[in-house]
Amino acid sequence: MDEPRTYPEPSPSAWHAPKAKPPVCCDPCRPRDVRKDRCGVNLILLGPPGVGKGTQSKLISKRLAIPQISTGDLLREAVRQKTKLGLEAKLYMERGELVRDGIVVGLIERRIQDPDCTKGFVLDGFPRNVEQADALATMLRGAGRRIDTAVCIEAAEDLLVRRIAGRRVCSSCGSEFHVEFRPSAKGKLCERCGAELVQRKDDREDVVKERLRVYRESTQPLARYYEERGLLRRVKGEGTIEEIERLIARALEEAAQPPPGRS
Ligand SMILES: [Zn+2]
Repeated sequence: MDEPRTYPEPSPSAWHAPKAKPPVCCDPCRPRDVRKDRCGVNLILLGPPGVGKGTQSKLISKRLAIPQISTGDLLREAVRQKTKLGLEAKLYMERGELVRDGIVVGLIERRIQDPDCTKGFVLDGFPRNVEQADALATMLRGAGRRIDTAVCIEAAEDLLVRRIAGRRVCSSCGSEFHVEFRPSAKGKLCERCGAELVQRKDDREDVVKERLRVYRESTQPLARYYEERGLLRRVKGEGTIEEIERLIARALEEAAQPPPGRS
């Protein structure tokens, strides 16, 4: 978390790979048409563990017909393809260290040049702190783009602990249950195959509380970062998946409206 800012940097040469022209927004750009995906909209979803960011990213991606870019997937893919950035990332991963921000930003930079990103993207898993947000903004500026809206999904911590610590997964078939919200018909056994239900290590209450603490300290300041830039929309993440999806859709529509007093 304390690593120094490393973007921009002179090497690796991957930075200097030929760039596609920055995608051009539809003209005239009509913000009200965001729902009809008429113009580019580059989004970030923020929120604590257990609040449903992953699920909501997928739903937004589908609704706006823009890709969800998961930095975890980008890293795995780069490692698999043995690209220059991938090989460098692998060194960090093998040492059990966090991959340098510059590598992740470099992977995003290449990914958003793909044609499916012309209309925008939803970034998933990045940035996680203010330094990364700065590095991302610098890169996007160079590519003629910017983050349009950061949606922060919020929920009370005790609810998040209940949601995560109550998860159970079948030790045999992998089916997922929840002691409170989606109990197995067979109690502590899987209702599909009868095998024992277990709790993932990451879902243990003490681990969840530690993850929430890390979120409060390093990721929460990001909400302020985007708020100061007028890009933040807060959404209450305590209802059902569908309710939260509706709130986010409304927040994005509002974000696309011109500010009051101007037309
Ligand atoms: Zn099972």
